[in-house]
Amino acid sequence: MSGKQSLDTICIQGGWQPKNGEPRVLPIYQSTTFKYETSEQMGRLFDLEENGYFYTRLANPTNDAVADKIRKLEGGAAAMLTSSGQAANMYAILNICSAGDHVVSAATIYGGTSNLFTVTLKRFGIQCTLVDPDAPEEELEKAFRDNTRAVFGETIANPALVVLDLEKFARLAHSHGVPFIVDNTFATPINCRPIEWGADIVTHSTTKYMDGHAMAVGGCIVDSGNFDWEAHGDKFPGLTTPDDSYHGVVYTRKFGKAAYITKATAQLMRDMGSIQSPQNAFLLNIGLETLHLRVPRHCENALKVAEYLKSREDVAWVKYPGLEGDRYYQLAKKYMPQGTCGVISFGLKGGRSAASRFMDRLNLAAIVTHVADARTCVLHPASHTHRQLSDEQLVEAGVDPSLIRLSVGIEGAGDIIADIAQALEP
Ligand SMILES: *Cc1c(COP(=O)(O)O)cnc(C)c1O
Repeated sequence: MSGKQSLDTICIQGGWQPKNGEPRVLPIYQSTTFKYETSEQMGRLFDLEENGYFYTRLANPTNDAVADKIRKLEGGAAAMLTSSGQAANMYAILNICSAGDHVVSAATIYGGTSNLFTVTLKRFGIQCTLVDPDAPEEELEKAFRDNTRAVFGETIANPALVVLDLEKFARLAHSHGVPFIVDNTFATPINCRPIEWGADIVTHSTTKYMDGHAMAVGGCIVDSGNFDWEAHGDKFPGLTTPDDSYHGVVYTRKFGKAAYITKATAQLMRDMGSIQSPQNAFLLNIGLETLHLRVPRHCENALKVAEYLKSREDVAWVKYPGLEGDRYYQLAKKYMPQGTCGVISFGLKGGRSAASRFMDRLNLAAIVTHVADARTCVLHPASHTHRQLSDEQLVEAGVDPSLIRLSVGIEGAGDIIADIAQALEP
């Protein structure tokens, strides 16, 4: 299929391309292994001399079809699925960083990613400097070191709802000869395609809007194919010098624009094994088939709910980048003019106790540790994900004790607002 198709068509038809007599619907290749006629053929696969499936930890046709759909949606050159968003971000970094290397990341990122970067990767010898994404470029320059190998940020940060200035971060990364990695989970390619703004690698927790129904945990990495690894070969020897574990293959030379993803598959999947199950990839594909319909509806509903919350006397503050007057409204207009996401955060004047009371009284919105699915859901970080912290510690961690994270679903907006209204009644 041509690369000029609309996102709507790619959502439905991208990826699986059945040949004559093959199933119309993407089949679940529920097989760990694949059969060959000769030992010689199988050997060539192991040497990366030939394309083909041999073991699902490395590659599976169901997974590949879904990865290809996401690759097309993001406008990338190559893509792979992972078992989770966490695995996607871990591989995205580990594929180009070793002990002694350093990463610059926006501080406003998902808590799990922040832990990964500052605690777990630190144990691997990889350092991370967290920066204020709104700081001026001169200030951000100071975070870079000789051993910096990547810049990382989220298009719309979960849960801070900070919209990243993608062009600014791409400029910084490229002036230091390193790739810019963007987690595009909240915006999705329907609202923003970071590669068009200079991102080199895009990651996803497909668990969120892409799946959209809270069915399956998953992740994805898309490589734009645009970063010139060889021009900065001293920084990325893993891609530009022979890999002894594959008979001396040099990924950039042999695989061109697919070098980064091929290395991540051949080395990281082989050795660490965070593959997505083909069952989950099948479910993810069903989710993707309606992504272009669901995302605009999430945004439309969230804007109505944000406007309603803002109009109420008992609501202290509302954060939603799609709301006029929001700190990130202008950046959102630039990078995602059609909409942002369905997630809103707000605080009640009554603080922490009012938040608990409000949440207990909700009927339609469910209390769950999740965001970005079809059903409206709500979480109070101070009582849940951050419950071990005191109010003072919460403020230090940048989590207002009153913050309620509301993930607006695609039910009727009037019903969502009515549920909020009755729960706020004195
Ligand atoms: C949820 C989330 C992740 C982690 O994804 P999992 O699929 O839960 O492992 C990473 N980044 C962002 C922005 C997320 O919202």
